[in-house]
Amino acid sequence: PLSKLSDIGTTIFSQMTQLANENQAINLSQGFPDFMADTELLDYAGDFIKKGVNQYAPLGGIISLKEEIARKIENSHQAIYHPESEITVTAGGTQAIFTAIATFIKKDDEVIIFEPAYDCYEPTVELFGGIVKRFEMKAPDYNIDWNTVKGLVTDKTKMIILNNPNNPSGKILKENDIQELIKLVKDTPILILSDEVYENIVFDGKQHLSLCKYPELKERTLLVASFGKLFHVTGWKVGYCAAPKALTDEFRKVHQFNVFCVNTPIQLALGEYMKNEDHYNHLNEFFQKKRDFLREGLKNTSFELLDCEGTYFQALKYSKISDKNDFEFAHELTVTHKVASVPFSSFYKNKLNEHVIRLCFAKKEETLEKAIENLSKL
Ligand code: GLN
Repeated sequence: PLSKLSDIGTTIFSQMTQLANENQAINLSQGFPDFMADTELLDYAGDFIKKGVNQYAPLGGIISLKEEIARKIENSHQAIYHPESEITVTAGGTQAIFTAIATFIKKDDEVIIFEPAYDCYEPTVELFGGIVKRFEMKAPDYNIDWNTVKGLVTDKTKMIILNNPNNPSGKILKENDIQELIKLVKDTPILILSDEVYENIVFDGKQHLSLCKYPELKERTLLVASFGKLFHVTGWKVGYCAAPKALTDEFRKVHQFNVFCVNTPIQLALGEYMKNEDHYNHLNEFFQKKRDFLREGLKNTSFELLDCEGTYFQALKYSKISDKNDFEFAHELTVTHKVASVPFSSFYKNKLNEHVIRLCFAKKEETLEKAIENLSKL
């Protein structure tokens, strides 16, 4: 093969967005907001650019932003990270994930992932010669059977990748899951890559349990978060990786040759904006209203609404409507009913088809309203 990823196509998110655009469909496929970010944040960015702060940032990130990140993590999870040596600003969550895998995964290292899994984990592990072991979480509950997971652990297991809250299922880890995870990794050198980019989008008063809350996990965890999700600016591509110094030191060795550093004026703007905690403390309520609006609108349709505990994605089972596979169904929904979604099977290596699709509700009420109207005709 010509390249290491010869068998892999374009991500499902780009595919579905393109299909939505070609068909003038309402795009509830790729996860991004269709509304503006706060103008205060946008003004800060403009101000820093115009002030002329446009050269390289330090490789780990700008200290004013890293201090705000450390303060946010301490306030939300009672965990202490040293801003200078334990937090690295990255070009979005995806680069943090890529760099973490590139840093630690060598040929034949085994990595455990939980499906439905965000699409970048597996190809990245394979790029570096790692071997993926999967646990399939299934509809409608997406529960984890930790005994089965235990069976996947060998002396070659190098890393476990968790995505909590989970994209696409909207499932969050419970205290019991965390305790099982603690037991699983105890007395092993296993690292954990914890993708928590939706940490601030958890509903119904439930609590996001960040792995950094637990000292036994924090010491081995690379925690990944995203400002795109936090402040509705996915196109800025800024996030971070927080990890103990020994892991961060290694992470930065790769980071420096991968991107070296991240957009300077945007980092300064984010740091300034984060001084006010109100700017990030109300995301749960903000998105819960959108989730409830969508669920209410779809409640009398033939779609079955699966639980949505967090993220800005709603999973819908459509088996009462069609027995087509989810890829075909999502395609037809876009072309004929003008609503684009993401088929769940794209999040499973073995294309497990449970007749479930994902809708993104990080959209204006009028967008959701139009989608509801179209979906109600099915
Ligand atoms: N995270 C976004 C989603 O799940 C997609 C980002 C991307 O297109 N790569 O839809």
